[in-house]
Amino acid sequence: MIQQPQKNPCIRCGKDRITVDVHKEKIGGSLVTSTKTACPDSECQALVDLLLEKERLQRERLVNMNQQHIFRRGRKKTKNIH
Ligand SMILES: [Zn+2]
Repeated sequence: MIQQPQKNPCIRCGKDRITVDVHKEKIGGSLVTSTKTACPDSECQALVDLLLEKERLQRERLVNMNQQHIFRRGRKKTKNIH
């Protein structure tokens, strides 16, 4: 039986996600366990994967937009000083 360190409900259906993969590796002298969890419903998990990918892309776009905004503001400020 695979031990589940913490409850991790699926963000879509709320079912308890199951641990599909456990990796143990030593990083800097301490043992680090990384677990990969998935929804017991494989169709739901596929949708969750899509959702997370979409969110990741949106976040990336947002970060890029913010950086451009700061860059533009910074240039404007410099312009005003001179
Ligand atoms: Zn689910």
